[in-house]
Amino acid sequence: MVRVPREAAATLHAKDHWKRKFRIWQYEHVVVAERAMGRPLKRGEVVHHINTDQLDNRPQNLLVCTRAYHVWLHGEMSRRYAREKFGVRVA
Ligand SMILES: [Zn+2]
Repeated sequence: MVRVPREAAATLHAKDHWKRKFRIWQYEHVVVAERAMGRPLKRGEVVHHINTDQLDNRPQNLLVCTRAYHVWLHGEMSRRYAREKFGVRVA
């Protein structure tokens, strides 16, 4: 994952946004997603790389979702991989 300096991301955020106070570096994929949405991520929201390439930070490769959905999504990806690659069914 690529990180960018806070200054580069600063224009994206409201002046009082909590990230600006506490974070010096931000992940580039978060910055790109926030720019595409026109708003900062809310607490509990995460950014997923659709093609699983953590370096591919094009907006069309990014999915903003809740943390819970993200965990489920990665579990589902693992289950499908196990099923298709090894014919194993995982609960
Ligand atoms: Zn993900």
